[in-house]
Amino acid sequence: MKPKWPTTPTLVPIADSDEGFPVRRIYCVGRNYVDHIREMREGDERDDPFFFQKPTDAIELNGSAIPYPAGTQDFQYEGELVVAIGSTFRGGQDPLGVVFGYAAGIDLTRRDLQKDSVSQARPWEPGKSFDRSAPCGTILPRERVVGIESGTLSLTVNDEQRQRTTFDLMIWSVPEIITRLGELYTLQPGDLIYTGTPAGVSAIHPGDRLTVQITGLPELSISIVDQEES
Ligand code: MN
Repeated sequence: MKPKWPTTPTLVPIADSDEGFPVRRIYCVGRNYVDHIREMREGDERDDPFFFQKPTDAIELNGSAIPYPAGTQDFQYEGELVVAIGSTFRGGQDPLGVVFGYAAGIDLTRRDLQKDSVSQARPWEPGKSFDRSAPCGTILPRERVVGIESGTLSLTVNDEQRQRTTFDLMIWSVPEIITRLGELYTLQPGDLIYTGTPAGVSAIHPGDRLTVQITGLPELSISIVDQEES
């Protein structure tokens, strides 16, 4: 029997457009806010942020109902600003010139598995790079985004605010993230960068509804539902 191949790339909606943003790679920044490093009591505050990746098909869109994932007792959210890349970045150019737009995102995390990886000095994949772990809201093209560098992010769980930050508190700013990531990988059109989370992460459960609001950007809302029968 012929395998049922995937037929379409992962697309994230673009505001007021019929075309989607085809996702090529998903990069994430770890440890980009001092208050989150403190709450995790992880390493030295002065250590640089770093990068990890999630699989492209981990994207979930606004309005998704996401089943509680397998293998964890400590499923957590991380509200983040997402940067969408629209052209190839070559060093020596203005990093913001390759930005296509911005979106609200959530870096869903199996925190217990991530902590196991840290304590055993193993890769982070089980805790970070699992199915449906990358909710991403509608992308707003950068021409329509004003003052994002001093914008505000807030994440609510069931209408109760759990995270709030301004982006001027990032350890690496968006241009610095693009420059440093560009030293390690060739950033290409279709890449998404989750830029790290502030303090206030905690566990979520079936029945919870999460909303990320970022100044000027389309809101991202998801809900967590019971684990799928397998
Ligand atoms: Mn994160």
